[in-house]
Amino acid sequence: MKYNTKIIQEGEKPNLKEGAYGDVSIPIHLSSTFARKEVETPTGGYEYSRSGNPTRSALEKKLAALELADFGLAFSSGLAATTTLLLSLTKSGDRVLASDDLYGGTKRLFNRVFDKQYSVKFSYVDTSNISGLEKAIKSDTKLIWLETPTNPLLKISDIKAIAKIAKKNNILLVVDNTFLSPYFQKPLTLGADIVLHSTTKYINGHCDSVGGAIMLSESNVFEKLKFNQNAVGAILSPFDSFLTIRGIKTLALRMERHQENALRVANFLSTHPKVLKVYYPGLPTHPGYDIAKKQMTGFGGMISFEIRGGISTAKRFLSNLKLFALAESLGGVESLIEHPAKMTHASLSKQEREAVGITDGLIRVSVGIEDARDLVKDLKQALK
Ligand SMILES: *Cc1c(COP(=O)(O)O)cnc(C)c1O
Repeated sequence: MKYNTKIIQEGEKPNLKEGAYGDVSIPIHLSSTFARKEVETPTGGYEYSRSGNPTRSALEKKLAALELADFGLAFSSGLAATTTLLLSLTKSGDRVLASDDLYGGTKRLFNRVFDKQYSVKFSYVDTSNISGLEKAIKSDTKLIWLETPTNPLLKISDIKAIAKIAKKNNILLVVDNTFLSPYFQKPLTLGADIVLHSTTKYINGHCDSVGGAIMLSESNVFEKLKFNQNAVGAILSPFDSFLTIRGIKTLALRMERHQENALRVANFLSTHPKVLKVYYPGLPTHPGYDIAKKQMTGFGGMISFEIRGGISTAKRFLSNLKLFALAESLGGVESLIEHPAKMTHASLSKQEREAVGITDGLIRVSVGIEDARDLVKDLKQALK
């Protein structure tokens, strides 16, 4: 079966057996517990909805299909997935080597919970620089944690090259693939061991559910994660599982349009006199363009750009937009725009922000699937 067929059909084969109803769309199984005929035989394999639920199982099969993985697990948020993963694969004294330009919430969880309270150690490097990454590996390094493209500067790291280094050093490679979605990048096929998503973003795609996912094919690692998914209990609800399944069915269509629109917006911004710099991996001027072309099948829908005039111009511009909602988050069908220094990355100090290149004039756009002509028109009038 080809990819686009599989992600629609996987997990949702209509049940045509005697007594079943042949649902084409998986029902929302809200039952918290499942009755059985005999003491030792759970009906249909289900006992209690934290350990397993038919709607969540359908989603977990779809999630695995998305990343061409053997296993998928659904969590109550991206950070719940990250928490369960770290609890399963690290202990006090272990080290995680991570991208320096990580999602802010992930960095907060790493530094203020796992480091401060549980003594797991973290080192941050620019993972787009392979030799720097290799030098930062120590004997206690157990995981490499990668985001590519990064947020908000869309830096690209070479997954295949880093996977080779991880294997050589007996380290597991985790890729947070939220920014591109599995439609445009499949890290497991490039040698990564584990893929993580905030399904809140492109996978659900409609800004109406918060969720997380882990996909992988190594069964011993899966067993640990599966055990802890139940033991910790940070599971996705049946209703959110249903919404996420519904979102996945249009992932291919949405991603194609996100990309088409993003390229039009990026090209428009690149030629505008009030724009100093545009960050989009689909522009040949982007420093990661060659690796992006090699490891991604598309460039995605996220763009950042720097406006001339700093914070005051940025604020005026943002409040003059009519179509772009001024909001955090990304990956929904509707266009969103935000100011990293004052919004998503406000928890970093000014020095920390400037060290990675997040200036006061930087603006991040999640380009939606509306008509690109309207989006460009709105940006043009607000820049004016
Ligand atoms: C949003 C996000 C997360 C966190 O996911 P939540 O669903 O908000 O918990 C992790 N990584 C990236 C890249 C994100 O954008």
